[in-house]
Amino acid sequence: MVTRGGCHCGAVAFEVDGEPAEVERCNCSICTKKGYLHWIIEAARFRLLRGSDKLAVYTFNTKAAKHYFCSACGVASFYIPRSDPDKVDVNARCLDGIDPQKLHVVELDGRNWEKAIELRRKTAAAAVEPRK
Ligand SMILES: [Zn+2]
Repeated sequence: MVTRGGCHCGAVAFEVDGEPAEVERCNCSICTKKGYLHWIIEAARFRLLRGSDKLAVYTFNTKAAKHYFCSACGVASFYIPRSDPDKVDVNARCLDGIDPQKLHVVELDGRNWEKAIELRRKTAAAAVEPRK
């Protein structure tokens, strides 16, 4: 199945293969203020349908993350995360037909970013390890 999403005014729209099983909530400086619910997916699953000319980008600190937002309505519906620059981080709050209060939320301690990402990678690696 395909899930569609985008900004508030409709200038930016995208579609994604699949739907989120769980999302991350991060307490770092920017995620706290933006209220992102992170759904990080392989870039091949993400297709921008319109709005590339309306996207503005904000960067800070290492400048690795590309925080895109709609220049008309200001909504940040997806971005390129510092943790996974080859992937797309979709803001699950911006998906059509998805109630963010019904999503399974996992906390990420982004205020201790290096530690939190290391822990996340270990957890992900353990999850894909074959059973013995
Ligand atoms: Zn917009």
